[in-house]
Amino acid sequence: MNIILFGPPGAGKGTQADKISKSFNLHKISTGDLLRREISNKTQLGKKIKSIIDKGQFVSDDTINDLIDKILADKKFNNRLIFDGYPRNLEQAKSLDLLVKKYNKKISCVLSLNVDKEIIVKRILGRQTCRKCGLIFNKYFRAANGKNHICGSKFLVTRSDDTEETILKRYNTYLDKTVPLIDHYKKLNLLYEIEGTTGIDEIFMKISQIIASLEA
Ligand code: AMP
Repeated sequence: MNIILFGPPGAGKGTQADKISKSFNLHKISTGDLLRREISNKTQLGKKIKSIIDKGQFVSDDTINDLIDKILADKKFNNRLIFDGYPRNLEQAKSLDLLVKKYNKKISCVLSLNVDKEIIVKRILGRQTCRKCGLIFNKYFRAANGKNHICGSKFLVTRSDDTEETILKRYNTYLDKTVPLIDHYKKLNLLYEIEGTTGIDEIFMKISQIIASLEA
């Protein structure tokens, strides 16, 4: 089973991808996380992409396609992938179509989370990620506390691209470049649309039902 999780920045893709990967034993592949790791490890690639990401622009398709090619080629991920934040435009989707053919795999479904712009801005401005365990929290909607997070508040960081100015840019880029993918995956009969403004557990329940129906 290989799943694509689709939606605007701040739709809750990372949170849902974590839950799905745990429950269904899938490997979460977040291109954003992979790129941020390059930046924090100060690799050549990391140095090249830092300012692009901070401005809310897309990293080049070649860079992303190379990362994904390596992942699909890796036997430890064999047919157990959930993509978060990829593909992001039609070129990447077409490249993924070719890559899955090349490695004799298939996409099982595309789960699209629908969330309004106002909620997205609030969600992103409140977002905090733990540098140690990677869990994602939100100052306004799901604050970290002693019960849901054991690492302690000193590890909580705000992403450098989570500013009001960059959020609006990222949202407009999403409308312009990523939304056309909806039609692409509708035509392939792979798209499932999910209301993304309800609670985390309710959204996860709906997603679980869809995945279970595909496994049946
Ligand atoms: P995310 O963590 O998915 O919100 O991604 C953070 C940033 O990483 C984006 O705003 C882009 O600059 C970059 N990025 C992540 N995934 C992609 C992708 N598939 N294509 C191009 N750029 C990406």
